[in-house]
Amino acid sequence: MPLPRLVAFDLDDTLAPSKSPVDPRMAEVLVRLLAGTEVCIISGGQIAQFRAQVLDNLPIADEATFGRLHLMPTCGTQYYRRQDGEWAQVYAENLTTDERDRALEVVERVAKGLGYWESETWGPILEDRGSQITFSALGQAGPVAAKVAWDPTGDKKNALRDAAQAELPDLEVRGGGSTSVDITRRGIDKAFGMKRLAEITGVPLDDMLFVGDRLDPTGNDYPVKALGVECVAVHGWEDTADVIERLLADA
Ligand SMILES: [Mg+2]
Repeated sequence: MPLPRLVAFDLDDTLAPSKSPVDPRMAEVLVRLLAGTEVCIISGGQIAQFRAQVLDNLPIADEATFGRLHLMPTCGTQYYRRQDGEWAQVYAENLTTDERDRALEVVERVAKGLGYWESETWGPILEDRGSQITFSALGQAGPVAAKVAWDPTGDKKNALRDAAQAELPDLEVRGGGSTSVDITRRGIDKAFGMKRLAEITGVPLDDMLFVGDRLDPTGNDYPVKALGVECVAVHGWEDTADVIERLLADA
């Protein structure tokens, strides 16, 4: 069986443990797969996470091999490829100035109204990620224990999300991490990114394979399955490495 024309992977808990670098075995099988077909990594995270978890840990390969890697941070609202020996941004579909300003104003006002605007934090509470505004109650670098203590039930995050969503009907307000809320345009999920990928590469969705750890109906990979792309569900990176080795052995 030939390799699929394109194999797309979720990042966290599919290629690597959450926020951690890829294992050398994973890095090695990924580059072997790249030697034979197009590969995409798609995640809700930022390019900095792609670099720290994957790109900085890949073995040296020739530029043609790296040229087959497609990177879609923030669910494909940003797109990176290899250019002149670097991982370079090809496009970013950022919020307009009006969308950004309204999102920042609303989330700050609503958080203050609810009494959730903390004075002692680990870094800034609000972050402009271009295509996304992120509110982090304790700052981007808040320790896990402090985050759990701040909102053990998730009620605060949900209250903030609901209140901000009511004032931003044209945007989408979603729970992000344990104490964070993300604001994007409506309809930005991994299905959005996969459709963009099909447009960019000319590879039809029917010729792609997607591998992810959250393909259950409440998971952040599920929209790809609902789109009709052939999917493989995995439990952790070792499982994914086995899937890649089987694809290579069968090809
Ligand atoms: Mg995942």
